[in-house]
Amino acid sequence: FATGPVYNFAAGSGTMPGEVLCQAREELLERGRSGMSVMEMPFTGEAFQAIQRQAVQDLRELLDIPDHYQVLFLQGGASAQFALLPMNLLPRGGRADYLDSGYWSRKAMAEGGRYARIRVAASGAAYGYRCIPRQAEWQLDPDAGYCHITSNETVDGLAYSWLPDTGGVPLVADMTSDFLSRPLAIERYGVIYAGAQKNIGPAGLTVVIVRDDLLHSARPETPSVFNYRVQAESEGRFNTPLTYAIYLAGLVFRWLKRQGGLSAIAARNRRKSERLYEAIDASQRYVCRARQEDRSPMNVCFDLADASLTAEFLAQAQRRGLLHLQGHPARGGVRASLYNAMPEQGVDALIEFMRDFAA
Ligand code: PLP
Repeated sequence: FATGPVYNFAAGSGTMPGEVLCQAREELLERGRSGMSVMEMPFTGEAFQAIQRQAVQDLRELLDIPDHYQVLFLQGGASAQFALLPMNLLPRGGRADYLDSGYWSRKAMAEGGRYARIRVAASGAAYGYRCIPRQAEWQLDPDAGYCHITSNETVDGLAYSWLPDTGGVPLVADMTSDFLSRPLAIERYGVIYAGAQKNIGPAGLTVVIVRDDLLHSARPETPSVFNYRVQAESEGRFNTPLTYAIYLAGLVFRWLKRQGGLSAIAARNRRKSERLYEAIDASQRYVCRARQEDRSPMNVCFDLADASLTAEFLAQAQRRGLLHLQGHPARGGVRASLYNAMPEQGVDALIEFMRDFAA
């Protein structure tokens, strides 16, 4: 194991800010005025409800979420939403458009297709998923109930640098791997959803932001705990919410505010990824296949020009404290995930290692 600092480049979970972990450690054992650790609080009590309200409020401020959008903290991860979107938004047999930009949009379609008639509005397949099809290639169904995109393809290392125009059709975005990495024009979306495990932290928690007019189309058989309207009307407490995960998410939201909010975070994220992509492009030993303008700032995917050296690259990186750099099994190669809490020093350490390895 490395003796110096250790950096976690895993795609499936984000590094948590150190100061948030320290605060959580202290507060876990501190029973304070309520006489309870946050882990022990009943969700029906005022102490937890204040934590939950504050977390929602901080998220609203960070993203500048208008009042006619609801913020829900649900369970089940982003994969549950793949099925819950059509259940909440479409009648049985209803139609939806999906943009196929890579691994996770295909997952969303496979699951969503069990509950809706799905059409692929455009696909990156013909390009080997090295780019996101430009808007001119999209064939949109004006009568679709929604149009689904994956704003950041975690496995393929692709991201939208532009916002699609779907006419009047509600735009739905899976933002699991780039949520809170930058400011958003919320009003351009009907629904935004994200698993929390990357830029927020606790796995299992799922954030859903939904426009009020989309709250009333759920099919009668939609489970109540996953019915957006039911949860909105009960302020996210129709059943026991993920109390500790919501508390932790709230700490991360406040940490983001202390960093200067999402514009400051976005600038730092841009610096991190640009520096890494420049180092890749400057070397003959590394290759990034993604089209320049579609490269993900969160998940930097690349290959060694000599692929037979990949295992050695990963082993040496690990000995330097640069952990979990292996690409997703579906893609292979190398993937450096640079979520919000990855410090710039982590990226610099990676670049230095890449130069040494290339030499
Ligand atoms: N969507 C994207 C873009 C992801 O990166 C992931 C997980 O990594 C998922 C969905 C699935 O999330 P979950 O594991 O929370 O179901």
